[in-house]
Order: sequence, then structure tokens, then C-alpha cells
Amino acid sequence: MAFELPKLPYAYNALEPAISKHTLEFHHDKHHAAYVNNLNNLIIGTEFENLDLVDIILKTKGGIFNNAAQVWNHTFYFDQFGKNKIEKLSGPLLIAIHASFGSFEEFKEKFSVAAKTLFGAGWIWLVKKPNGSLDIIQTTNAENPLTERLTPILTCDVWEHAYYLDYQNKRPDYVGYFWSIIDWEVISNRY
Ligand code: MN
Repeated sequence: MAFELPKLPYAYNALEPAISKHTLEFHHDKHHAAYVNNLNNLIIGTEFENLDLVDIILKTKGGIFNNAAQVWNHTFYFDQFGKNKIEKLSGPLLIAIHASFGSFEEFKEKFSVAAKTLFGAGWIWLVKKPNGSLDIIQTTNAENPLTERLTPILTCDVWEHAYYLDYQNKRPDYVGYFWSIIDWEVISNRY
């Protein structure tokens, strides 16, 4: 069963000025689409052909893993935004953030530093550990917290293709704007 590229859950210009229509057209329609197509081509005729995406991520390495994880990571990334649905965070996730980081501002600062300082291509994640506490981790290339038995809550794509058309080398500016487009209702439901 072939995987399909999920549609963006908002218009291409919905995240401006944080992320431009131009960037989303390339990031979703070209990069995310390429990972889906590559994955479908790589699994044809293999034992992975009929597995769901998470099982493929957990059971593979190399090219199949890289494309499967990038399909999952990008769907998770694009689903967490929505400029017109911004709500202040509250409830159990905010309580957990206070318990793990001291305050929301300290969490935001620690996550932002992790996003600005990851060397090369990768992802920054807020994750829930099996004991319910939270942590911030960096992964390189396609690596994904699911393989470490961690539950992803929030992610920031810091591959250059995520921001270079809008910000060029200024990754810190992209990270700063990142906070303005997060749909905290989606994030809370992941906790
Ligand atoms: Mn990306």
C-alpha cells in the first residue's frame, strides 16, 4: 500500500511572515513529497511494503529509514502550525513544562538554544519520557525520538530547506518566528 503526501492543514500563505508561501511550496510540495515518493519506491517488493509508517521507522536503517522518518517528521512538523488558531498554552502540558524546566520561558529558551546550535541538518524535539517528564533533544538528519521510545510533542525542522528561502543563513531569526505560528491546542493533545 503506497503512502500518500498529506495535504497541508492550512493555506500556503497562512504562516506568513514566519514561513512564506514560497518556502511551504518547496518544503511541502517538493521535499516532503520526495520523501514520500522515495519511500514508496524503496519498499516495493520488500517485507516493509505493507507495514505502517511507525513500524517501518522502528524496523529499518539506511535509505528506507531515512525516507520513512522524514515522511513522519514532516507530517508532524506541518500539523503543529496554524497562525489563526494560536492559544496560550494551559493544562497538563503547561504543568509538565513547569515541572521539567521551571517555567515556560525557560523551556522556550532551552528549546531555542538547541535549535540555534544543532550543527548541520536535523530536528529539535520536546519529548515525553516514559515517566511522564519532558526533555528537549536534538537529532541529526532524519533521526526521530520514536526509536528511543520517547513521545514527540513539538518539533522544529532546522534543515536549511526549512528556512533558507526566507532567512538565508539566519537560523536564529527562523527560530524566533517559529514560536508565533504554533497551535498549542495541537501540541497539548500530543501530551
Ligand atoms: Mn524539512
